[in-house]
Amino acid sequence: MSGALGPLLRGVTRVLLDFDGPVCSIFAGLPADEVAARMRRRIGDAGHAIEREWEDEGDPLALLSSINETRPELVAYADAVLTELETEAALLARLNPEILDVLDACANSGRTVLLVSNNAGRAIGAYLDRAGLTDRVGGVFGRVPGEPASMKPSPRLLLDAMGETAPERCVFIGDAVRDVEAGDAAGVRTIGYANKPGKVAKLTGAGAAVVVESLLPLAAALTSPDIHT
Ligand SMILES: [Mg+2]
Repeated sequence: MSGALGPLLRGVTRVLLDFDGPVCSIFAGLPADEVAARMRRRIGDAGHAIEREWEDEGDPLALLSSINETRPELVAYADAVLTELETEAALLARLNPEILDVLDACANSGRTVLLVSNNAGRAIGAYLDRAGLTDRVGGVFGRVPGEPASMKPSPRLLLDAMGETAPERCVFIGDAVRDVEAGDAAGVRTIGYANKPGKVAKLTGAGAAVVVESLLPLAAALTSPDIHT
């Protein structure tokens, strides 16, 4: 489907990028289920009861949402704990080397790259620093601290990143169904990045404008000289 990329990218000036997946695997070194377990431990150590439904949650972002739903008075604390742990994880995260070609192509074609992520902005900033990528990103839109409802599939972070730029001049690249849903809600087209088996069908089914299994065709299309009209 990568042949459809050229028309999709024509006139696009803002490339919105999901972080975990397209840029790196944030929990490659400090696994997500370990982060969730440490969150529970910290909350328990602070004297708060752990709800039964939190016990088996291995996704720390889903755990944060669950805490928000069942014990909203704890969400600010839980988010601060998760932010610390994500920042620790970011220092062990694994770069997706293909993203470097996308960043180069955007820089060379005068496009702005903005990161739009459910992860904490502080953790993303720490990762970019460590990877030497800070200067190649125009802005970071992480979840609003203490407000997990801002996370995708909410369109909020995407709308913040789009600012005054018309949706047809933006494109969003994400690897999860919730990314496609957030893109739809924000009125921006989403390129699905199917970086694991089974994701092509999921992202296509969710309504992604195009689905790619590698970011390299995207980098090539961003470099192509015929897309600036
Ligand atoms: Mg992702």
